[in-house]
Amino acid sequence: MEQLYWRDSIRVVLSRYIASSKGFVMAKVIESLLDRLRKDVVLVAEGYMFELERRGYIKAGPFVPEAVLEHPNAVKELHLEFLRTGSEVIIAFTYYGHRAKMKAVGRENMLEELNIRAVALAREVAQKGGALTAGNLSNTWKYDTKNPEKSSKVIRPMFEEQTRWATDVGVDFMIAETFSHLGEALIALEVIKEAGLPAVITFIPLQEKSCDGYVWEEACSILEDNGADVVGLNCGRGPDTIIPILEKIRKKVSGYVAALPVPYRTTKEQPCFYDLKMPGQKSAFPVALDPFLLTRFEMADFAVKAQDMGINYIGICCGAGPHHVRAMAEALGRSVPASKYSPELNLHPITGYDDPAKRYCFGPTGE
Ligand SMILES: [Zn+2]
Repeated sequence: MEQLYWRDSIRVVLSRYIASSKGFVMAKVIESLLDRLRKDVVLVAEGYMFELERRGYIKAGPFVPEAVLEHPNAVKELHLEFLRTGSEVIIAFTYYGHRAKMKAVGRENMLEELNIRAVALAREVAQKGGALTAGNLSNTWKYDTKNPEKSSKVIRPMFEEQTRWATDVGVDFMIAETFSHLGEALIALEVIKEAGLPAVITFIPLQEKSCDGYVWEEACSILEDNGADVVGLNCGRGPDTIIPILEKIRKKVSGYVAALPVPYRTTKEQPCFYDLKMPGQKSAFPVALDPFLLTRFEMADFAVKAQDMGINYIGICCGAGPHHVRAMAEALGRSVPASKYSPELNLHPITGYDDPAKRYCFGPTGE
């Protein structure tokens, strides 16, 4: 019965989706990822898991994207917010929506419907604003360095089914992210290439090397040699501690490079957001990171720095808010729908005055 139920609901989702997307057939053709990259930087907002957790729709700890089924409007709203603040890519919220993770939290029965609905939601929003839709694969925690062949047998089918669900609904390209093992990233790349889609593959640089022993620039170069369209880093590190690694990657690879740091103040002593400590040495990750959050201006500075370094696919990961994304877009010289409400602090009754004697007593109209 349960099997029947899932098949039925998937059919309903797909038929609704296909019906709702008929109008898009006539819409103007959306410029592809590779065409955009040839011309300019592509700006990409990630960080759905953290933002939806802050809003009360995701449980920290398991961090699975069940909000897609339980609170689809919350997911859609965040897609819309990232779209109107300048993200050119709307990413299906299937991070950790793979069989291993869903099974581990007892939600394996949601898997297929979750993946299909997530892609449909992302695509619906992307097409409202001429953005690209990306499918999303993530590390599985199942890669065993000592036994790559056995690992592949476990991981490959998980990536294959997620990629199949994504392509069934329709994506422009696939992102496979937060890998700590080159071996696992290569499995994802192979699956995506077999599906005939462009591949953006990124590592999470928690240590100086991948868990299977490659420095990051070497790991990226191998991905590039195997056909990845964009390679680089996402998550884990803030701008200050990710840039030195990006510089090495930019030197080593000849194609497009991705950089999506977390918006947290990581340091040489605490290079990853997992390392950040509260007073008393209690770990701040993942739900007490607020004191380390970077301002929109700091993320805007990162966007410009990355562009100057020759990074092509620039974004932001866990911790991102729409205000960061808008500031990054504007720093890259863009005006986005949410720019209508960008700050004009000269119009504020207090910040608009330089003279403290005046500013605490008169508003601009009280002069
Ligand atoms: Zn992240």
